Amino acid sequence: MANRPNLLTHLFGHDLMRRPLFLTGFMATGKSTVGRLVAEHAGVPFVDLDDLVEARAGRTVRQLFAERGEPAFRALEREALQTLLAARDREPLVVALGGGALLDRGLRIEALTGTTLVALTASPGEIVRRLQAQEGEQEKRPLLADADPVARVSELLATRQAGYQEAHGSVATDGRSREDIAAQVLALWRRNAVVVAAGSASYTVLIGEHLVESELPGLLGKPSGALLVSDTTVEPLHGGPALAALSGLRGKSTEVLLAPGEQHKTLDGLRPIFQGAAALGLDRQGVLIGLGGGVVTDMTGFAAATWMRGVRWIGVPTTLLSMVDASVGGKTAVDFHEAKNAIGAFWQPSGVICDVSVLKTETERAFRGALSEVIKTALIGDPELLSLIEQRREALLRRDGDILSEVVLRSVRVKARIVSLDEREQGLRATLNLGHTIGHALESAGGYTALTHGEAVALGLVAALRLGERLGHTPAALTERVTGLLADLELPHRLERGALERASSLLRLDKKRARDAVKFVFAHDVGRVDTASVPLSQLAQWTPELADPPR
Ligand code: NAD
Repeated sequence: MANRPNLLTHLFGHDLMRRPLFLTGFMATGKSTVGRLVAEHAGVPFVDLDDLVEARAGRTVRQLFAERGEPAFRALEREALQTLLAARDREPLVVALGGGALLDRGLRIEALTGTTLVALTASPGEIVRRLQAQEGEQEKRPLLADADPVARVSELLATRQAGYQEAHGSVATDGRSREDIAAQVLALWRRNAVVVAAGSASYTVLIGEHLVESELPGLLGKPSGALLVSDTTVEPLHGGPALAALSGLRGKSTEVLLAPGEQHKTLDGLRPIFQGAAALGLDRQGVLIGLGGGVVTDMTGFAAATWMRGVRWIGVPTTLLSMVDASVGGKTAVDFHEAKNAIGAFWQPSGVICDVSVLKTETERAFRGALSEVIKTALIGDPELLSLIEQRREALLRRDGDILSEVVLRSVRVKARIVSLDEREQGLRATLNLGHTIGHALESAGGYTALTHGEAVALGLVAALRLGERLGHTPAALTERVTGLLADLELPHRLERGALERASSLLRLDKKRARDAVKFVFAHDVGRVDTASVPLSQLAQWTPELADPPR
């Protein structure tokens, strides 16, 4: 095996090699037939989940249903699925799932995190026709005994539709050859894509180099009009491919260029976008495209959430921070006076393209600062990402395209998993605040000019790790490891007592939000974090201990 030239290495690059392809979809959509064909093309094994369950149980699926009932079958199916998910880093393979295997949302999110999940679809009439054509299926499928099987299938499909939309892609199979379908599935497997699962508002984040011209047309579809929103710094550097994609549209399109910078992320700053939309006559079938850093994508998203009570939008983030952070979660906003992101909405984009080649022109300070968000993300959910940054630091700082793609992909995957499980910030999403409690206070204490957001997060991480040590959550070796990495990346990592005390008193003053305690995220290990409240009185007492000795 070790010496066998691996076709997948050639086809997909190293990351996808380790990711199995899972095929999901309603019964009779062709999962096994297409799965076998795709596996054959890729030269990898094929597994039918039902066969695996049967082999493990020593019973056919039919016998299992009859003798032990559906819940027992589902439990066995879940076990088999979890075995496959746990082995995902060892062998590339193609798996055809049963139609109900991913009804459990938690399991579906795990499958989305660890595999490429593609849904096959067929119309209700076609599904019934295929079932009737399968010899001996008549008596096996109680569905077909229904007086109106097509209506019954439509009903069932409607209940499962949102679940099937939480996938890396969906492939229609009516009237198409197997080869044709398999080719489309292979193309989906080949993409570096992360799914942000939000039912029927699910979307994919595509990651790679020079992607805009090839991928934007597909995301645009056939809108009635398209408005490109960018800023006067980004558009001259990177607007070409997006404008080329727009020129291919039959519908009307135009662009609006905003003044760059956070100071323009205001209600007034939105006016040119709405004026552009009005001039274009953009209706509800229109689309906005935000090409720029987090300021542009936040503003474009908010304009899309409110124009005509909501139109589609596509994000094309151009800074490392906006790729790893703002591209996931559907938070859109503008600032209002002193309050950051005070006026906003949750409004998911219909797709995001992270073209890492544009990061070459980002300023050194902004790029490095964003790496602290990447380190935070690794601490929350991806030990391999942390090792990757340590081992490939030089290539990363040179902004090598392969390493950047891997870093963005892994970061987006961690955030997407968390956001998918907690779309409206009920709990889990709070872990994304690791390093941000003191980080925000330091940023604010410095008047938002002394430190960039990323630099403040770097210091916030050190503070949270040291506080975690003080409270017995965090091992000293982890604090040392992260502090050393921040130093290697030339990010701030020394905590000055004066700045910390100012930040800590800001937290204390913020009584309304914090009451008598502040919630912190603590790291127990890389990939293992949780939250705990720290009383403000104790925080004040410990602040001097968290600081570095004066030099
Ligand atoms: P930014 O959008 O202000 O961009 C920084 C500067 O870099 C701008 O002057 C911009 O013109 C320039 N720039 C952008 N891309 C460039 C490129 N490729 N080459 C050269 N110059 C380029 O800053 P940012 O750090 O991207 O984003 C910060 C904003 O994002 C904040 O407003 C923050 O609130 C928001 N944000 C939102 C989310 C979310 O979930 N929605 C998450 C994180 C941050």
